[in-house]
Formats: sequence, C-alpha cells, structure tokens
Amino acid sequence: MKKIPFSPPDITQAEIDEVTDTLRSGWITTGPKTNKFETEIAKYCGAEKCIALSSATAGLELTLRLLGIGKGDEVITTPLTFAATANVILHTGAKPVFADVEKEGFNIDAAAVEKALTRRTKAVIPVDYGGYPCDYDALKDVLNMNKKKFHPDKRTFQRCFDRPVLIADAAHSLGAVYRGKRTGTLADFNVFSFHAVKNLTTAEGGAVLFNSVPGLDSSGFYEQMQLLSLHGQNKNALEKMRSGGWKYSIELPGYKYNMTDVHASIGLAQLRRYDTEIIPRRKKHYELYKKELQEDSRFILPPFNGPEKASSWHLFPVRLKGADEKVRDAVIAEMTKKDIAVNVHFIPVVMHRAYRELGYDIRKYPNTYGQYCNEISLPLYPALTDEDVLFVCRELKNSF
Ligand SMILES: *Cc1c(COP(=O)(O)O)cnc(C)c1O
Repeated sequence: MKKIPFSPPDITQAEIDEVTDTLRSGWITTGPKTNKFETEIAKYCGAEKCIALSSATAGLELTLRLLGIGKGDEVITTPLTFAATANVILHTGAKPVFADVEKEGFNIDAAAVEKALTRRTKAVIPVDYGGYPCDYDALKDVLNMNKKKFHPDKRTFQRCFDRPVLIADAAHSLGAVYRGKRTGTLADFNVFSFHAVKNLTTAEGGAVLFNSVPGLDSSGFYEQMQLLSLHGQNKNALEKMRSGGWKYSIELPGYKYNMTDVHASIGLAQLRRYDTEIIPRRKKHYELYKKELQEDSRFILPPFNGPEKASSWHLFPVRLKGADEKVRDAVIAEMTKKDIAVNVHFIPVVMHRAYRELGYDIRKYPNTYGQYCNEISLPLYPALTDEDVLFVCRELKNSF
C-alpha cells in the first residue's frame, strides 16, 4: 500500500539548480543570494524590510532582544502553538503569559489578551495557526485601548511604540491575506519560518519583516538586527572577505543567527513557484478535504473561512466531534496502521513538562484544550493527488 507522509518538502529541479549555482559560485554563506531572498520576500509581502535568519525561533528571539525585553517583563502569547513561541520569551528572562484561543477557532482571542494585559506587558505574540491570519484589527484595538498600561523602557526601542509591541508568529502563514494585506505586514514585527515542513522551505530558516515606525526607520531596525544576528560584528562575512577588509569591531555580544546563501537559494526557487504551484495545489487539496468531510456530521471542519481572510493552506486540522484525547489517539493509531502520517497541532505549550513545572495549568485554557483534544492534522502538501486525499478521507471515516 502507498505510504502517505505528513509533509515532505516540495523540491524540484529548480531548487537543485539554484543550490548548484550557489555551490559553484565560490560564495556559500550569507551574501548575494541571501540579500536577494530578503528583497524578494519583502516585495512579495509588501513590507519595507526583511531580514533572513537561521530560523523563526531566532527571528522571534532577536525581535524580543532588539526591543530590550527581559527580566521583569511579560509577553502574552497563545498556548496553542509550538514550544518555540514561548521558549524564546523564557530565554530573554521575561515571563510568558498565555491567553486562550477563540471559542471555536485556533487563534488567540483578543478578549483573552485584554484580560491578560498588565503594566508589565511589553509584547504580544499571536500565531497564525495553520496559516489562517489572526484578527489583527481586534488585537490592535485591544492594545490601543489599553495604552495607559504600557510603560516602555525608554533606553530601548520600546520607546518607538506607544502600546505593547505586536509580534506575529507567522511561521505558517506566508501568502495568507487579511483585509487585503499579506501576512508579513500585519503586525509590528512579522516572523516567518522556512523549516522543512513549512509552506516555503529553505531546509532551516526564518525571516523577520517590518516597516518603519515613528522614531526609527526600517533600515535602522534592519542594521540593528543584522548586528545582533552576527556576533555584534560591524561587518558582515562578505565585507570582511574583501581585500583589505580584515578589520572589524564587536559592538555588542551578539548571536549567530544568519542565513546562508545555500539555504537562501532553495528559498529563491521556492518563492518563484509559490503563487503559481505551491499555494494553488495546497488550496486544491484543502478544498477537496473540505468537500469530502463536510457531509459527515462527525467532523468539525477548520473554521478557516471568515470574511476578508485567506489562509495559506498550511494545515487541514479536522476535529472529531465528541472525541476525547484517548479516542483521538486511537484514531491516529489506526491511520498509522494504514501508513497515513497525521499530526496534532499542537500539544498545548502549557501541557509540556517544562511548562507544568513552571506552574502553568491547561485547565485555565478551556478553548485551547477543547480544540486540541479531538484535533488531527491531515497530510497537506503539493505532491498529493486527488486519490491520496480521497484515500485519507475514507480511512479517517473508517478509523473513527
Ligand atoms: C515551526 C514553528 C516555529 C519555529 O520555526 P523554526 O523556523 O523551526 O524556528 C514557531 N512557531 C510555530 C507556530 C511553528 O509552527
């Protein structure tokens, strides 16, 4: 029987050719291809600036560091995400504060964010779950209505904001649209992941996109982030390699979070196929899943159909009506026997041991638990055929 993986990378001759071109060029680390990838991603999203990095995790952490967020601060995020979103908050020394997701949705609830705001809140990190954009206007309204609670540290870039900074974890949502604007522009800082399982991959990689704000233009943020991403060195690798360019200064103790040209070349080829091949095929499979499953009242389909929103079709999360964790897990075991790889998005962050030991408790996030306990993410990737999708649906119905 045919094996159906969950989300294999979509690599064609175009990616291989672009990587080969880089390997033969004599320059393989951060350089011209990375610069080009940054420009192209910014253009695609309609953002002023993009910095390409080694991962989304690096992008989230650099953003928090750049804003001077750390000990004594609080950052609000969703429990229904990958641990990276919350781990980076802990890395800075700040406290993750979780706000529950919407009653019937997978994205953070603006009303829950409002309840979680305190005078220590410095940032909010919503996640575009499955590629479906959060309600950014509602989130901004909540932050704008509570400006009085925001006490920025004036020694840091927090001074450029008059409310907690909105940092989108857009790891899933490249290409998604909210009220006529692409993700990458919807929050103050917008972080994409190009990890192997994501819609557009560079094997490992990420990017942060941003626009100018009063007090600092986007080029300024870019320079600061670049400095922070490469040891705090005032010259990049390419500049240092030029003859006579040996001298450099470490301006601050930075990190090592740069993207390489080998990785960027995969991304350049992917981006050229993104709107013509990758997104349309994902959408087609998504629609077929929907058509096949919506007639069966035992399934709750993803609520990815609000007005003025378009998903990037990253996940197809289906919920099994009335099922608890045990039933859901048994259905997954049945699917696995049929060689169909499925997944769960996500084991809520607060249910992991590391977070339980910090005192977090899933019982405080009933919507998150409700969405998690009966959820299964079905295989969704360009190389699927209609027959594959129909087979997955048939086996899901049988297994349940
Ligand atoms: C994949 C993912 C990340 C982490 O991305 P990396 O590029 O692997 O660091 C963060 N948040 C969410 C929601 C993700 O799915």
